[in-house]
Amino acid sequence: MTTSDDFYALRTQMVDTQLVERGIQNPRVLEAMRRVPRHEFVSAELRHLAYRDCPLPIGENQTISQPYIVALMTELVHLSGHERVLEVGTGSGYQAAVLCELAAQVYSLERFPRLAERAGYVLAELGYSNVEIHVGDGSQGLPDMAPYDVILVTAAAPALPGPLRSQMNERGGRMVLPVGDDRRQYLEVVTRMGNRWEIEQTIPVRFVPLVGRYGFAPRSGVVPDDGFV
Ligand code: SAM
Repeated sequence: MTTSDDFYALRTQMVDTQLVERGIQNPRVLEAMRRVPRHEFVSAELRHLAYRDCPLPIGENQTISQPYIVALMTELVHLSGHERVLEVGTGSGYQAAVLCELAAQVYSLERFPRLAERAGYVLAELGYSNVEIHVGDGSQGLPDMAPYDVILVTAAAPALPGPLRSQMNERGGRMVLPVGDDRRQYLEVVTRMGNRWEIEQTIPVRFVPLVGRYGFAPRSGVVPDDGFV
């Protein structure tokens, strides 16, 4: 059986060349990226590509994001360890694992039951016990568990979804999400203070669409990809 140690050198190289060289600095984020075995979250046929500088297919026409994007989104929300986090777009479960390393409790929502089931299985096998995977339309958030200190959306929304906005912690809640259409998206960082939301636009990116009531209609818009452009 392949163990995560077989890939440790490749993972370290990924961190040094793809993350540190592009400016990721937070030592906790870098350590989490060094620890989480990305190859466990892709199919056996794609394992040899798991540490490449690109997104990879995971089924259902969806992708596991480029490592740099996972690290950047994680760095942008400044996790110190005590946070309750909502991830929208579980996909393979890889980003959820990185969040589990750095936060107290992670809730992750996926619209495809098959992806949610597989991600849940891999996360449990790896021993992550601070994560709950839910199946549903993440554009509506997960109101029962709100508020969240951090919300991380890993699919592109046409605009900031209202329910996610209102499920942010009123005292400094943070959210990071790609916003735009199929041609142009930016990673936005939203910070909430009471009833004020500050929005900062960062780099251009290309994500699969957030499909749902406060996202895109099924099959409209954005082509499968997710990395930075
Ligand atoms: N975070 C994932 C990972 O680490 O593998 C990558 C996610 S992939 C780029 C985007 C995911 O968002 C897909 O799995 C897609 O099915 C999911 N998605 C899209 N719209 C959604 C919605 N409204 N609710 C929940 N999940 C959604």
